[in-house]
Amino acid sequence: MTRKVVVIGAGFAGLQLVKDLKGADCEITLIDQRNHHLFQPLLYQVATTLLATSEIAWPIRRLMRRRKDVTTLLATVVGIDRAGREVILKSGARVPFDILVIATGARHAYFGNDQWEKDAPGLKTLEDATTIRRRLLLAFERAEVTEDEAERGALLTFAVIGAGPTGVELVGIIAELAQHVLPQEFRHIDTRKSRIMLIEAGPRILSAFPQGLSDYAAHSLGRHGVEVRTGIPVTAVSEDGIVLGDQPIPARTVIWAAGVQASPAAEWLGVEADRAGRVVVGDHLALPDDPAIFVIGDTAHVVSDGRPVPGVAPAAKQQGVHVARVIRARLADRPEPAAFRYHGIGNLATIGRNAAIIDFGRVRLKGRLAWWVWGIAHIYFLIGTRSRLAVALSWLWSFLARQNTARLITQKETLRDTD
Ligand SMILES: Cc1cc2nc3c(=O)[nH]c(=O)nc-3n(C[C@H](O)[C@H](O)[C@H](O)COP(=O)(O)OP(=O)(O)OC[C@H]3O[C@@H](n4cnc5c(N)ncnc54)[C@H](O)[C@@H]3O)c2cc1C
Repeated sequence: MTRKVVVIGAGFAGLQLVKDLKGADCEITLIDQRNHHLFQPLLYQVATTLLATSEIAWPIRRLMRRRKDVTTLLATVVGIDRAGREVILKSGARVPFDILVIATGARHAYFGNDQWEKDAPGLKTLEDATTIRRRLLLAFERAEVTEDEAERGALLTFAVIGAGPTGVELVGIIAELAQHVLPQEFRHIDTRKSRIMLIEAGPRILSAFPQGLSDYAAHSLGRHGVEVRTGIPVTAVSEDGIVLGDQPIPARTVIWAAGVQASPAAEWLGVEADRAGRVVVGDHLALPDDPAIFVIGDTAHVVSDGRPVPGVAPAAKQQGVHVARVIRARLADRPEPAAFRYHGIGNLATIGRNAAIIDFGRVRLKGRLAWWVWGIAHIYFLIGTRSRLAVALSWLWSFLARQNTARLITQKETLRDTD
């Protein structure tokens, strides 16, 4: 009897798994709440006008067009009936499974301050990116119109909270926009006088990188006009701006890049989760008490060589590869592979135009060479020739002409009632 494999989530982990199950004796149902697979590492470039949405996302149905064994469903999962072996969709429909793989990723976390989200959106989806892009561009437009000095100052203050790679990458390009792309287009304001703040509660930015590279990044951001504030937490966020420690800072554009929380898979399954809400899995990334239910990618708490596996795209893909091997072995009655082991490739982050840092363990790079390596690596991991060419061309154009092409303000405000 052909087994039913249900995969929830067509992100890095889920898509890799489905790819590697090609030719296996099973029927696959791939469920995602969005109709596209998203390349999240370049999302910040959509938020900051460098890339268009269609350059970093691909319709899942199109990606699966040649896979007759795969049925794609655009649907939101809201629960799992473990006893009945069914996935429960928001519509009320149920999808039966013999083997289930949950790969629903993570979302941003506000550490108990969820009310901050509408004024400090995080960056996880294309909608988040276009919301941030809209706020950035509108801030400059409104500053051009207003005659109120204080309001202009608040409009030209941009605060990014959280100095991991995403926060650093965001401020790098916002600085580039303000310093080099926009100045000649405005008549009443000098966009170069914008205040761009990177705020980190911890002692240094990019804490996952060695101290030397983190210092280099802070110095480099400073040279590009970014104000780096470390060691002070943000204590309040509102439409007016932020409070840093006890100092109010008027800012109309605030972006949250400070924390992540796994999707609610642990609640659906009624199982143990870690502090970030990730499901604790065993050697083969399955539930310890149910070997036919796997949890992979950012939703899973995985330990390899005694260390927790980071929530990054290569880890998610490697977990997809591993679970496909386990499922194939089981379907063919072959012995299962050895336990999952994560092979870390290294850490990369860009610091605006022309500079990046790379930590490959023994090899550490910074500056222009690192930026080229970063760029080539990211183009390589995009899906399809058209996207690779489109992204390469957008970067080349921005590099040579100092023009960012994705600068249209189109949608309405989605998070705030006003605007
Ligand atoms: C802004 C940003 C920048 C990043 N930069 C980097 C980087 O430079 N390098 C790097 O290695 N990693 C980076 N990451 C992390 C990396 O993107 C994640 O580790 C990776 O996406 C995890 O893959 P995943 O498959 O677990 O989840 P995801 O890729 O997030 O996929 C989860 C999928 O599940 C779907 N889903 C979620 N809930 C439901 C539901 N209830 N019903 C149906 N479908 C659902 C989602 O729509 C999504 O398609 C970045 C992440 C972000 C947000």
